Amino acid sequence: MSNLPDNDIPENNNIPQNEDKSRQMMPWDLLNPNQPRSTKELQNSRLAICRECEFFNALTVGCKKCGCFMRMKTKLHNATCPVGKW
Ligand code: SF4
Repeated sequence: MSNLPDNDIPENNNIPQNEDKSRQMMPWDLLNPNQPRSTKELQNSRLAICRECEFFNALTVGCKKCGCFMRMKTKLHNATCPVGKW
């Protein structure tokens, strides 16, 4: 049992009230059902661009620039290529 009265519990001002939609997507955004998903066509066109890219690692199907696994990252509609290719 806490010795603090209820009115001494600090407010947490670090929790964003409105998510910034312009921020960079992160891997855990795939766990958020509110993050919009890409269509299959968009995923495939993004992956086709990656496969031609000098930063693409065919072994891991990953990006050497951002370190992401591209089969996952391309599913996030708001994700972007770190060098602006898509
Ligand atoms: S995300 Fe961009 S930099 Fe990374 S492999 Fe794809 S096209 Fe290349």
